Amino acid sequence: MGRVEILPLGGAGEIGRNCTAIIQGDDIVVVDCGISFPNEEQPGVQVVIPDFSWLVENRAKVRGVFLTHAHEDHVGALSWFLDDVNVPVFATEFTHAMIRDKLAERLDIRKLKFVTIKHGELIEVGAMKVEFIHVTHSIPDSSACAIHTDHGVVLMTGDFKLDPTPVDHRPTDLARFDALGKSGVVVLLSDSTNVDRTGWGPSEMRAGEGFRTIFPEAKGRILITTFASNLHRMQQAIDVAQETGRVVAVAGRRMEQTIDIASNLGIVRIPKGLLVPLEQAVEMEPDKVVLLTTGSQGEPRSALVQMSHGTYSRLRVREGDTILYSARAIPGNEAPIWRTINRLYRLGANVVFHHDPPIHASGHGYQDELRKMIELTKPFYLAPVHGEPRHQHLYLEMARHMRHPEHRLFALHDGQKLIIDDTEAFTEEFLSLEPVLIDDSYRQTVTGDMLQEKNTMAEQGMVIIVVVIDPDTGLPEEVQLDAKGFSGGSAPLRTASQWVHDRMKGLSKAERMDDKTVEGVVLEACRIAIHKTSKLRPLLHCILIR
Ligand SMILES: [Zn+2]
Ligand SMILES: [Zn+2]
Repeated sequence: MGRVEILPLGGAGEIGRNCTAIIQGDDIVVVDCGISFPNEEQPGVQVVIPDFSWLVENRAKVRGVFLTHAHEDHVGALSWFLDDVNVPVFATEFTHAMIRDKLAERLDIRKLKFVTIKHGELIEVGAMKVEFIHVTHSIPDSSACAIHTDHGVVLMTGDFKLDPTPVDHRPTDLARFDALGKSGVVVLLSDSTNVDRTGWGPSEMRAGEGFRTIFPEAKGRILITTFASNLHRMQQAIDVAQETGRVVAVAGRRMEQTIDIASNLGIVRIPKGLLVPLEQAVEMEPDKVVLLTTGSQGEPRSALVQMSHGTYSRLRVREGDTILYSARAIPGNEAPIWRTINRLYRLGANVVFHHDPPIHASGHGYQDELRKMIELTKPFYLAPVHGEPRHQHLYLEMARHMRHPEHRLFALHDGQKLIIDDTEAFTEEFLSLEPVLIDDSYRQTVTGDMLQEKNTMAEQGMVIIVVVIDPDTGLPEEVQLDAKGFSGGSAPLRTASQWVHDRMKGLSKAERMDDKTVEGVVLEACRIAIHKTSKLRPLLHCILIR
């Protein structure tokens, strides 16, 4: 038998940017195609996408891309991928509905092929078969992905929790996982996001219980911020609003779109007359209103953040408002979230984030749920993904306690291949991947050099050096330094100008006539002079005029 290879292009050793290639012979199946968000050292970067260049080179072998669910860290990079590798997109009905508009912003979707699949259906892709298995998560219609290969099932859990009482009454299909376990799972690539939380995570229903205790107590308006795609959370807000005699309005375009899609598909049920336009809601008695809003991650352009600045014209936060922070911060977003919450307090609102019963339940299973998944599926090899190295480490510790032998455990990272053959499994450093940074226009890539320049400019400012050169002698007639965002004052610039004059005098005439040499000398002189006098290293840009 040939080999089966698993190649994570994103999402292994990190949370975000999920994208994995499963390779058998001449067939490649891609599972998920997500983005991650930039960190504070990546100014002007809007999203980070996986490096697809290997898939582009091997595009003739790629049979399709399978999307486990519609979260951005699983589908957000699809438009860039399909731009280069136009293959069928396999997903459930809701996931397709969620991605269509977004794809249409960048691609001609008439040229794309969408294949809607149902849970339990077997899809033939080359010599492999792929199957989706329903799992509970913080977005409807989520799936694990089982790839039936020559060596058994490669099982990717996708993001999951084992919620026994989900809002839509559709629990994770444990029976199917059990059956797969009996038929032979060769490797389990499991979600490991919440492996540092012991026990069993709270059911999504608990957040509804939180709402049920808070709503009757609140005297004024209730605002709830959550992820725009957390429809089961919104369903519970809608249900409790109805029970307590309040109407619901939505602030935030993305949230309006999602509710629209979900109600068309029958995924959320909104009683007639309960959902009212925002403009109507703000005119009503405060204790008759619930407002759902985006901005749970402190996104600068979101409705809640604008409200906190008092710049959201459609709605002003005021004294008496109760704001429920019904989400968990994506690591790295804590600072803008706390700033938003502080501003909301200043406006007189009461912000609730910790509460018992809780007003948020994670979409990712805790330790006992992850363990249960291993017990059910009895994998031969184990490779935790959707986690940072610390999560992978804890997950493998857990597996060791479950008596999984060491040589069957793998903490993969992006670009590293897990190779399974007849006798063993082993890893190979295969690709050295660079995350691809996309700018605010969503079209252009930000390179490492650009990023370095941006950071230097942001921290130290910029100095433009214009040197006007006498065409006969090659000596500078004039050296002008113009600074932007430079806090060192004018003295370092005068020193630098003097240094340029002095250094150029020291060059031969032939050297003075060569632009490259002169530019090098000018930049070097200014760099040293400015640093010596100001201790700063601004970005330097040299213009020669002959
Ligand atoms: Zn997810
Ligand atoms: Zn995810």
